[in-house]
Amino acid sequence: MKVHLIKDGDVSKETFSEVIDLLQAITGPLEFTCDSLNIINFEVDEFLEKKVSNVKAFEKSIGAHITYSSKSQIVMNKKESRPLKSFTFPFSRKTTNWTTIFDKCNIYRTKNNIPNNEFVILLTEVSNSNNWFASLDEKMPFNGFIHTADWNHFIKCLDSFPIAFEVIALILQKHMFNDYNELRTSVHIEPIGCINDMCFEKKDIKLKMRTADICQDCMTKLNGKLSLAEIHQALSIMESLRVKMLFSQNFKQTVPLSKLLIDKRNRIFLPDFGNIEIKLRPLEKTLYFLYLKHTDGIGLSFLCDFKQEMYDIYTSLSSIGDFQEMRNRIDEMVNITSNSAAEKISKIKAGFVKAIGIELAKNYYIQGGNGEVKKIVLNRDLYKRINY
Ligand SMILES: [Zn+2]
Repeated sequence: MKVHLIKDGDVSKETFSEVIDLLQAITGPLEFTCDSLNIINFEVDEFLEKKVSNVKAFEKSIGAHITYSSKSQIVMNKKESRPLKSFTFPFSRKTTNWTTIFDKCNIYRTKNNIPNNEFVILLTEVSNSNNWFASLDEKMPFNGFIHTADWNHFIKCLDSFPIAFEVIALILQKHMFNDYNELRTSVHIEPIGCINDMCFEKKDIKLKMRTADICQDCMTKLNGKLSLAEIHQALSIMESLRVKMLFSQNFKQTVPLSKLLIDKRNRIFLPDFGNIEIKLRPLEKTLYFLYLKHTDGIGLSFLCDFKQEMYDIYTSLSSIGDFQEMRNRIDEMVNITSNSAAEKISKIKAGFVKAIGIELAKNYYIQGGNGEVKKIVLNRDLYKRINY
């Protein structure tokens, strides 16, 4: 079954490619494709600048024809319920309605001859009038959208984790329920940690993702609707996202360290932390690989002594680009007056921290105070490079 992911112009390329990588990490009959070239734009008359007056409104979804009790909040401990990203209320944000969003899916479907049994899911930064994270289209349930903004307010991890999770949720929901009517009467109004929790209180999404589970009742509904291989793949992706989220939310900061694996395509993985990939740009990787090799560390002012080695690493990583231009970039990086290396080092640090949380990350990133020798403290017994 094919799932086509498309995005609007405001969804970052990084997030979009992370989502795709997370989904494609586990192979199976569900096939995820992304179209980053066809940007879906919202015209000025297709959204309103709508005011969000307070945090309560911001954190609540509005039921589309669903009646519910407002007592469904579960109690989180104080630390967890504190908003993670601060907003100053009131503020305005682009808001559109579901019809407009699903029209975009339909136009894309027609334009690209996508059959009616393949998903078209639009990732959009524009919020929607019901303030939902994600939904399927009532009229064409193979259409869906995911609102990609504001996740940081609810969950502290890479945005791509919950977005990828929602992609799987939409696919499963499409098949669990015969139609939208059944969906809206069958979702769990009180959150129980099932993929079908309604999350009128948007914070409840955290419970859903922490369990990454499907309750027995909902599992029964999948019987015969999807193949076992499809269900297995969906569950495996959910589980891999759950593990990755736990690491990045510091829930698992006391576990043994993971190996650090560089594969033959020079990608960096932490296989024991849910096989999460640490994404770095070629120049950042060049610096990182240099420091991996030199266990005693290198002071920034001595980087210029390693220029040749860096040229070699960089050209092995990036085949595109002019040779002289690549040399210039390395020259710039080792130039102590340029601050370029320090910037790369903080980008590398941010990459690890976002993925596995600050405590675990310290073992993997390049560290050392101003003017001191910088190094990666990781015991190199844990470092493995695959060259074949
Ligand atoms: Zn359920």
